[in-house]
Amino acid sequence: MPFHPPSWVPQLPFDPPDSIPISDFMLDENHGRHPLGYAQNPFTCGLTGKTYSSLEVKERVDYLARGLAKELGFHPNKGSEWDKVIAVFSVNTLDTIPLAWATHRLGGIQTPANAAYSAAELEYQLKNSNAKALFTCVPLLETAREAAKKCNIPDNRIYILEVPEKFAGKPTPEGMKTVDDFIRDGQKLDRLEPLKWEAGDGAKKTAFLCYSSGTSGLPKGVMISHRNVIANTLQINTFEKPNRDKMINDLRNQTDYTENVLGLLPMSHIYGLVVISHASIYRGDGVIVLPKFEFTATLQAIQDHKIGSLFLVPPIIILMTKNTKVLAQYDLSSVWSIFTGAAPLGQESAEELQKIFPTWKIRQGYGLTETCTVVTSSSPDDIWFGSSGSLLPGIECKIVTVEGNEVTGYDQPGELLVKSPAVVLGYLNNDKANTETFQDGYMRTGDEAVVRKAPSGNEHVFIVDRIKELIKVQGHQVAPAELEAHLLAHPAVNDCAVIQIPNEKTGEVPKAFVVKSPSIGLEENDRVIAREIQKHVENHKARYKWISGGIEFVDEIPKSPSGKILRRLLRDREKEKRRKA
Ligand code: AMP
Repeated sequence: MPFHPPSWVPQLPFDPPDSIPISDFMLDENHGRHPLGYAQNPFTCGLTGKTYSSLEVKERVDYLARGLAKELGFHPNKGSEWDKVIAVFSVNTLDTIPLAWATHRLGGIQTPANAAYSAAELEYQLKNSNAKALFTCVPLLETAREAAKKCNIPDNRIYILEVPEKFAGKPTPEGMKTVDDFIRDGQKLDRLEPLKWEAGDGAKKTAFLCYSSGTSGLPKGVMISHRNVIANTLQINTFEKPNRDKMINDLRNQTDYTENVLGLLPMSHIYGLVVISHASIYRGDGVIVLPKFEFTATLQAIQDHKIGSLFLVPPIIILMTKNTKVLAQYDLSSVWSIFTGAAPLGQESAEELQKIFPTWKIRQGYGLTETCTVVTSSSPDDIWFGSSGSLLPGIECKIVTVEGNEVTGYDQPGELLVKSPAVVLGYLNNDKANTETFQDGYMRTGDEAVVRKAPSGNEHVFIVDRIKELIKVQGHQVAPAELEAHLLAHPAVNDCAVIQIPNEKTGEVPKAFVVKSPSIGLEENDRVIAREIQKHVENHKARYKWISGGIEFVDEIPKSPSGKILRRLLRDREKEKRRKA
């Protein structure tokens, strides 16, 4: 029996369109975007207040597309989207999403990379995606250049996204082309030919190539179609509307309403990209863009811009509950809703925050890069702490036990499988992962869930464990296989396994079990070797991937007869150790 959205959730108002690019869906008046949104500025810098109106954004996208077409030789109707891949390696900026829309206007793909990446990590994505050009920001320019050099992206194909001067620390180097330069050039160029798409093209063509390790292995390019983003945008807004209108009416005595939302989470991750930067803007809201998480600057931005909805990840909520004195210094009275996702938020943390802000609606959503974000969400009038809420419209899910039997009742755990028009096209050039992950129209999430009936009568999904090989640090993905491959390259490591252990600040951190190489003499100190191995990771990997859970030397790594690491066993042992400690 597949589970369904609650009965109060309306059907999708119309089938997600499959013949237009995301840029048309977001910018043209005739695709259902909230009319008030055209009066609201879609993106405003949270630090400087710099902003563009909806009309200006639309114009900038058009001119930027013209400028890109000339500079890169891209044509809306010539070449496949795979010949028109533009990489973005930057903190959040006012132009990041308009740049994506300009790329879409040309029938191209944006591949966003995590701003914390090292040069080697960025190089992997640039090569894997076959990116033709790279947009970065001044603070990340050196890393971007180092990576681009190794991927046949010449220096004159590296461009700059503007960040506030104070944040950049230094000016844009002489001669480097910025988004504003493209726009200036584009104004002098002829109009572009319209995209000539047929019905179905929007469902087949990739718009974003995000990276996720999925259920196992190394990070893979996730092909997200135009229709995937459009579908989830409609799903989120259809789910939100009835309760949001009612809630806002009660709180503000106002029904038709747009608001400012917090644009802090990275636009390179599916949550910041789709939920914040597309669904909110489609709803008519304004995104207050922040380049980086800094606690007091974020609180200041909430106060200054009277932000109504905060999109957060659990570690920020925990930080808030532990710093009530700092919170008290800011006027946060504009806030009515908190939405958290990307990793589990414990019931206790939600309760603690609720004690501090009794009127806030503290809501949790659940989703993946591979489902082009939100699968379930708690609605403002049906919050059950610990639950990830109810299914969004147009989504079906199944729960399947390890033995492959479908669960037919409540409270029975199994792997969650999802069917939705937002489920992505698949992984780029990876048949094995595609066969394992996408089966009979369902996406295997690798998460263990139960469905429970809430007092409201609605079905709620609880994510109770993670079956797949994935570590979540501050909501970022860390693939154990990536760290294991890197550790094995160190001469002191003969074999290894990486698992997650809980961490109060970040949610989880990686911990490594290492079998020392026989060449290591008995006299060598474990602490020194461990430090060397840690350094080997710190020199090559983004900070959030560092082995902060420590290194434990063991005699052997437990494996199945086929050689698969028995991570569950390691995790259970670790849990037992913690229980006894
Ligand atoms: P990503 O593709 O980076 O968004 O990672 C998706 C994974 O994050 C999911 O498969 C879950 O393991 C985890 N995740 C996301 N949201 C939640 C949530 N609300 N509760 C528990 N885990 C979550």
